[in-house]
Amino acid sequence: MNKYKMTVGLEVHAELKTNTKIFCSCQNSFGQKPNSLVCPICMGLPGALPSLNREAVILAVRAGLACGCEIERNTKLDRKNYFYPDLPKAFQISQYDKPLCHGGKIEIEDNGKKKYIGITRIHIEEDAGKLLHGENGETLIDYNRCGVPLIEIVSMPCIHSSSEAKSYLKELRNILLSLGVSDCKMNEGSMRCDVNISVAPEESTEMGQKVEIKNINSFAFAAKAIDHEFSRQCALLDSGEQILPQTRRYNEATGKTDLMRTKESAEDYRFFPEPDLLPLHLGEDEINRSLRSLPELPSARKERYKKELLLSDYDANIICSDPELSALFEKAAQGTKYKKLLANLLLGEALRLCKSDGFHSPMKAEYFSELCELWGEEKITSSCAKKLLCRLWEDAEQKRLLKHPAQIAEDEGLWQINSEDELKALAQKAIEKSPKAVLDFKAGKERAFGTIKGALMSESGGKANPQKAEEILRRLLNEI
Ligand code: ZN
Ligand code: MN
Repeated sequence: MNKYKMTVGLEVHAELKTNTKIFCSCQNSFGQKPNSLVCPICMGLPGALPSLNREAVILAVRAGLACGCEIERNTKLDRKNYFYPDLPKAFQISQYDKPLCHGGKIEIEDNGKKKYIGITRIHIEEDAGKLLHGENGETLIDYNRCGVPLIEIVSMPCIHSSSEAKSYLKELRNILLSLGVSDCKMNEGSMRCDVNISVAPEESTEMGQKVEIKNINSFAFAAKAIDHEFSRQCALLDSGEQILPQTRRYNEATGKTDLMRTKESAEDYRFFPEPDLLPLHLGEDEINRSLRSLPELPSARKERYKKELLLSDYDANIICSDPELSALFEKAAQGTKYKKLLANLLLGEALRLCKSDGFHSPMKAEYFSELCELWGEEKITSSCAKKLLCRLWEDAEQKRLLKHPAQIAEDEGLWQINSEDELKALAQKAIEKSPKAVLDFKAGKERAFGTIKGALMSESGGKANPQKAEEILRRLLNEI
């Protein structure tokens, strides 16, 4: 068995969130009645002429700036010629040798290690229709997606494991979502990914033959496709066979990659400048305006949380890795001094309660703020805060009438117990109920104290002020 290394480059297609399509005024909308959003332009009927949607260009420029790319001031669109049933024009309007953006990078964190992934280019192009394969072998075509604006983001081949690839895809999605340029729903196909992978002996300085895996629609599948393709190529190399340039498809059912076609080269597409569209010129003020309107990016937000809110690297990282989670944190943090408690609640209970793939909270930010204020001001204990969170979350999920945390605490008597007398009574009960632990403790076993304190806390229904309870309990135990 030889040792091999993999080199992976990713091509990500993301649909832009424009109102209309890229070259016509048809609506850009997912999930509509098949073939209801089409016109002579996006259907490629003879004589129909495209005109470029300015909104698509602006969104693509935003994506480019956020990825640290250089924006090309003078660019153009090109025809990429090929026939496929989902492409009625028999060519795709794309960009060939002058992409709108080039030469950027994004920072990823993979297993605690930081690394930059280079971005070769980002170009704009149009999407194709969707083929729907029926059970009886028939294929239906929905042309609604024809002409939906896309950006294609091409990474440098500098990814060396499936987990790095996954981190890159997640970070890219995070950036695009926070920019609002795409909704990046992999299950609806608004973000898709092609993998280029080559395998070579560990010590080799040259890259192996590139194989492409097309149209992967989840992060998990991307990782699986890469791992499977790596072992397939390793096995071929071990048996002395050659890797052929191919386009393969990831098969979700088998977890393997299957051959689609032997690879075509760029020449086969017979690219040429799109004769029906003028070259594209971008002014400095246009680009500066986009630059100024960029929101805070996830990586900058993470640094701010660490520096200003004193969150740990770990907390800041998780919060900023999900756009909805970080938006909720951002909003809730404005309503409470206790940011660290807020991070604890979100990363503990809330993430646990959240059953969806990405983070989604049915509960409004203000409820989180109120909960943290009560907890931080020691009006409720941490265990009550968690209990209340579960309760509020469920109420919100079931769309039951929402009471504010303080109201529930009042109605159900969940306030923290701070009174000396009450705590003393609870401590006495706990001592009575844990005779063995008391003996152990008196014999010098400090660990037994935890058992007795646990009994006290549970006796109080989790409401005893933990520090005060501990003091009183120690005092009573010393008197025994
Ligand atoms: Zn149209
Ligand atoms: Mn493309």
